[in-house]
Amino acid sequence: MKKLQLASLNSQNERTIVKVGDVEIGNELALIAGPCSVETEEQMIDTAIKAKAAGANMLRGGAFKPRTSPYDFQGLGLKGLKYLEKAKQASGLPIVTEVIDPRDVCWVSEYADVLQIGARNMQNFSLLKEVGKVNKPVLLKRGMYSTLSEWLNCAEYILAEGNPNVILCERGIRTFETYTRNTLDLSMVPAVKEITHLPIIVDPSHGTGRKSLIAPMCNASVAAGADGLIVEVHNNPCEALCDKDQALTPEEFEVIAKDVSRVYALMKEIAK
Ligand code: PEP
Ligand code: MN
Repeated sequence: MKKLQLASLNSQNERTIVKVGDVEIGNELALIAGPCSVETEEQMIDTAIKAKAAGANMLRGGAFKPRTSPYDFQGLGLKGLKYLEKAKQASGLPIVTEVIDPRDVCWVSEYADVLQIGARNMQNFSLLKEVGKVNKPVLLKRGMYSTLSEWLNCAEYILAEGNPNVILCERGIRTFETYTRNTLDLSMVPAVKEITHLPIIVDPSHGTGRKSLIAPMCNASVAAGADGLIVEVHNNPCEALCDKDQALTPEEFEVIAKDVSRVYALMKEIAK
């Protein structure tokens, strides 16, 4: 990957640690939990408090949803960001939320602690340039049809604009398999570590699309060296407006959080 200048492991001596609130991604396990989309104030506050009690150290929730159909719920926009703000105040959890339009980056970053670039926008170069100009960490998801090289070049776009705080996120790619929603490519975790100094987290919710597969893939991600996980958790999954088949209850997430923390500690021990 000749053209990587800033993202490549050779470009700096130390691995990048991205600080979000009190969490140092790269030094400690990032556990991001929350619903696919922000729906109501009560849903966000309740989910945030329960996710925190279950072991999450960051809260996710989309106020802008990139949906396949224009007739599906598109997110609450500004109202959603205000609910996220209230959930942050109630729980103390920093906010991870997606931005889908370059014109929104500046004002959305006043609410977000981490700006998420979704898989569908990975190569939206104007969006990448905009998030590269703000002073907020960026979670860059892998595009569902993207190679490692294409993905890392997108990280390079953000770094080249002056924002050093990029976190990569493997979320599965399209293959011929239909049992799972995507094929979670966990080989990317050590591959990313081999090539770049950037932290990488994994999204087994979108990576599998199946509740029963999320826990084992969370454990496997951390065993492969992931710096964190982003998992869809809803206080009432049956009622979720988006991605309800993959939404976990806070209780189910709590079991995962406990197990992955043990796997993380074991991996640190092995690395000594
Ligand atoms: C999401 O995390 O809400 C999302 C839409 O994921 P992806 O961009 O990976 O499909
Ligand atoms: Mn989702």
